Amino acid sequence: MSANELRQADKAHLWHPFTQMRDWCAAGHDPLVLVEGRGSWLVDTTGREYLDGNSSIWTNIHGHSHPHIVQAIQRQAAKLAHSSFLGLTNEPAIRLAEKLVALFPPGTLTRVFYSDDGSTAIEVALKMAVQFHQLTGQPGRARFAAFEHAYHGDSSGAASLGGIGAFNDRFASLSFPVTRVADLAELEALERPTVQSLAGIVIEPLMQGAGGMRIWPGGLLRDLRAWCDRNHVFLILDEVMTGFGRTGKMFACQQEDVIPDFLALAKGLSGGTMPLAATLTTERVFEAFLGDYAEMKTLFYGHSYCGNPLGCAAALASLEVFEAERTLENLEPKIGQMRVLLDELGRETHVGAVRQCGFMAGIDIVRADGSPYPWQEETGARICLAARRHGLLTRPIRDTLVLMPPLCFDSVQLAGAVGALRTAIREVCGEN
Ligand SMILES: *Cc1c(COP(=O)(O)O)cnc(C)c1O
Repeated sequence: MSANELRQADKAHLWHPFTQMRDWCAAGHDPLVLVEGRGSWLVDTTGREYLDGNSSIWTNIHGHSHPHIVQAIQRQAAKLAHSSFLGLTNEPAIRLAEKLVALFPPGTLTRVFYSDDGSTAIEVALKMAVQFHQLTGQPGRARFAAFEHAYHGDSSGAASLGGIGAFNDRFASLSFPVTRVADLAELEALERPTVQSLAGIVIEPLMQGAGGMRIWPGGLLRDLRAWCDRNHVFLILDEVMTGFGRTGKMFACQQEDVIPDFLALAKGLSGGTMPLAATLTTERVFEAFLGDYAEMKTLFYGHSYCGNPLGCAAALASLEVFEAERTLENLEPKIGQMRVLLDELGRETHVGAVRQCGFMAGIDIVRADGSPYPWQEETGARICLAARRHGLLTRPIRDTLVLMPPLCFDSVQLAGAVGALRTAIREVCGEN
């Protein structure tokens, strides 16, 4: 099929996520059809290359088509692409669980539950937390605390935790019981009965993503851990975005030496190649579910593709690349370089606050007087469209531009990406 035939067929039959489909299907809109990925680059039907400025919606870690990961998937596909994880098991899933657990101090996070997406990784943590409290004689603990501006996924349970009105208000009637807090002070101010009704508190550690790339104050995680311990509430960390090196360490929680009760991993787990998620938890949680079958302590939860061998083989290969290429060591200077480039970008008239956490950044676009543009003007989206013409792909959060490259970006690519953003900002907002 030609590129134009593909576009026509897409417009005739597809429904894209988070997309106003009238705009998408409009005659003047030519969707970009990607055909190939190589390292930091994506290639369209005309052979044009683009830097992948948001790691293909925050998933890619080592670059596209990394030979080691491709080979692992190919070998596994030729052997066993999928088998049920209900009552059966497979080697890649077993080996990956061992590796994931070994990334944490011995005896801390010891159990791995597989699913498919960030949303499901959170969903299962919620169900485990609620059932744990039922099994241990505290059935009243069935509510969750979550933060304003939080994003934990789009399935109903995960979405209940979300603090982004535009995504959630419409579905309030489908919501789990959630107490929303802005910060630690509000959490500490909760009434005793509310605290005693909490099964857990959920947070995106260090940086909130979809809510606008917002950075938490240093030390918050440690304070939350202490609050959770005092109040017998589970700490559930959503590292779907921050996991696998994005903050500069393998996991954000390691920046504050905090071990959660539940850890949700997805996006970068497979290196950004296959849908795969994992929810890690402790032996204490796991043991509460053990008993005679007739006691009904079993966790009745699962998905058809749990423990998918292809995804697990890809994830194992991705972890091997971290070691072979010393990915985290090599990232350190690049994080510094990103800081320098963003400092410069911050001097642009139409750039407001710039927030960087590790190798992730949010860049607020403002009017010349520093006030926000009306969101209806879609300034951020228009800048990203302009950046595409200058060889960079990324997607904004309203008027916050997101720069979250694969960890394999080199210094030339990083400078190229920031340069493309600068040019695009000037084109759309004017030079001054
Ligand atoms: C993307 C994201 C999710 C949801 O993951 P999906 O794979 O899209 O379901 C959850 N939490 C955070 C922090 C995310 O960035």
